[in-house]
This record gives sequence, structure tokens and C-alpha cells, in this order.
Amino acid sequence: MSPVISSEFAPSAAAKRGLRISFEFFPPKTEEMERTLWESIARLAPLGPSFVSVTYGAGGSTRERTHATVKRILSETPLVPAAHLTCVAATQEEVDDVVRAYAAAGVQHIVALRGDPPEGIGAKYEPHPGGYAYACDLVAGLRRLGDFEISVAAFPEKHPESAGFDQDLDALKRKIDAGASRAITQFFFTNDLYFRFLDRVRAAGIDIPIVPGILPVQNFKQAKSFAERAGASVPQWLADRFEGLDDDVATRRLVAAHLAAEQVLGLAAQGVSDFHFYTMNRAELVYAICHLLGIRPAATRVAA
Ligand code: FAD
Repeated sequence: MSPVISSEFAPSAAAKRGLRISFEFFPPKTEEMERTLWESIARLAPLGPSFVSVTYGAGGSTRERTHATVKRILSETPLVPAAHLTCVAATQEEVDDVVRAYAAAGVQHIVALRGDPPEGIGAKYEPHPGGYAYACDLVAGLRRLGDFEISVAAFPEKHPESAGFDQDLDALKRKIDAGASRAITQFFFTNDLYFRFLDRVRAAGIDIPIVPGILPVQNFKQAKSFAERAGASVPQWLADRFEGLDDDVATRRLVAAHLAAEQVLGLAAQGVSDFHFYTMNRAELVYAICHLLGIRPAATRVAA
């Protein structure tokens, strides 16, 4: 049986430290993955995230699974879910139906994204005829359909398709003008990239929270491949630190925990108070990093 999380705990463990954390999960494909996800949610919930988000597979491929996961979070936990939603491979009416279903289920927070081309990252993006073309259009659509809290994506190294940072910041501004109130960044491994981006964003007059997206590297090869696809750079020093550890899971974990802690504590030392963790549905590393940030679990009752 999956763990059940009591609604009795006060979701304020992070808030007490003046920090706001959020966790990102992806909808599970198999029963085993489902078990792992719910064990992770049970472990991380007492840390008091402001919200937990659930991704939407490319081309809407996880539409039902995303919905089911979000609904289960709503009905079985005291957590606040945020549903990711994309524009690709769907008409506006189809996307609006998904939005209405979320609203009816009680979902109040949407992470609004354009999504990547159905043929994969790198392929030319063509808006679906009759669909929302870009994330800013989806944000505007959401505003018409309900009173949602809306988060959007931001890219410290700029979006790979943007010609430059000016174009990128224009895209971010359009999303905010349409109604977004928070941006979550693509992951990055060098904190200076985030701070330089933040300077550009503030200089452009954008004042919403730009929450750093943190990817604890559990598997370097996998993270490198994600990064290549997402347009995030992988510094040589990171590769060096994982060198020779492909078959050494235990050491890899220790190195990963050290690196992620270094990154997050470095951001916190410079005043960052919001963190969005790409958990990959695993609790261990993220739990340890939150612990290092001083976040302790609030009283929970978890029945396994
Ligand atoms: P947009 O803001 O629309 O920008 C995309 C590109 O189009 C940019 O280069 C921009 O400059 C350009 N552009 C924007 N508006 C216009 C316009 N009006 N005219 C011309 N060009 C324009 N993908 C998923 O499939 N599912 C997920 O659940 C998911 N979650 C994510 C969560 C986070 C925090 C992040 C950072 C990314 C996520 N992604 C997800 C990936 C995201 O969908 C891709 O990075 C996508 O390529 C860009 O999405 P966006 O919302 O930033 O798009």
C-alpha cells in the first residue's frame, strides 16, 4: 500500500527558516515508479514545500497521468499541487478542457509552458494550428479561464531558440504581462550564471521571483544528456568530479550530495530564499540538501 500523509502536519517547516521550497515530480509510468514517487512525497512533505509541481509529458503524452497524480496529491495530502501544462500538439479548446478539469478538481496553480516540439528538442517548433502558440498565449488563456496562480519558465543561459538575451527577456516579460507571478529557472550548475541572469532580469524591470531550479545530480551521464537537450552548460569541473564513478553508486551519491549542498548553500549565502528542486521523484538527496539549509520536518504522521 502507498504511504498516506496525514493532513495534521503544519506545512511551515521551510517557512520557519524564512525559506520557500518547492519540489517537482514527474507522473509515474509503472506501479513500481508510482510506489517510489509516493514514498518520496511522504518523505519530503513534512519539509513544508510551498507547492509541489507535476510535469506534463512532451506533446501531452502524460495528460491523464499528470492529472491523476495531481488529483491524488490534492485528495491524499495537505500539499498544494501545481500542474504543468504545455501548448504543443493540442488545440486551444483541448488545452482549455484540461484547464477546466484542473479547476474543477481544485487545482489553483499552473506552471504554464510552451513545451518542446513533438519531434524532440532541436526540431523546428511550429505552433499547433488552432493551439496556443507560445507560453505567453497560454498564460493569457489561463487568465481568461480562472483565477490561477501562474508560474512560467526562465533560462539563466537563455532559451536555446532565442537569438539573444534581449529576445529571451522580451518573452519572459510577455508571460508576466499576461499574468504570470513567478518564474522557475532551468537548472544550472554554476551559480554565477543565475546571478548574472538575475541582474539582467532586474535591469529589464522584471520584479517577480525568479526561483532557481536545482537539479541534484544523481546520475551524471543522465544529467549531462538533459543539460545538452535543455541548453544548460555542463562545466568541466563537474565532469571531473564524477570521473570514474559510473559504476560506483555509493561514492557517486556522496559526491552528488556534496555538490548540490555546495550549490544551494552558495545561493542561500547570497540571499536566495526560494528553491525549486527537480527531484526526479527521489527524496534522498533533496531531503539532505533541505536539512543542510536548516529545514527540519514538521510533525507528521505517515502511515506506510
Ligand atoms: P516560451 O516562453 O514560449 O519561449 C520559447 C521560445 O519561443 C523562446 O526562445 C522565446 O524567445 C520564443 N518566443 C516566445 N514568445 C514568442 C513569440 N510571441 N514569438 C516568437 N517567439 C517567441 N516541458 C514539457 O514538455 N513539460 C513540462 O512539464 C515542462 N516543465 C518545465 C519546467 C520548467 C521550470 C522549465 C524551465 C522547463 C520546463 N519544460 C517542460 C520545458 C519547456 O517546455 C521548454 O524549455 C520549451 O522549449 C520552452 O518553454 P517556455 O515555456 O519557456 O516557452
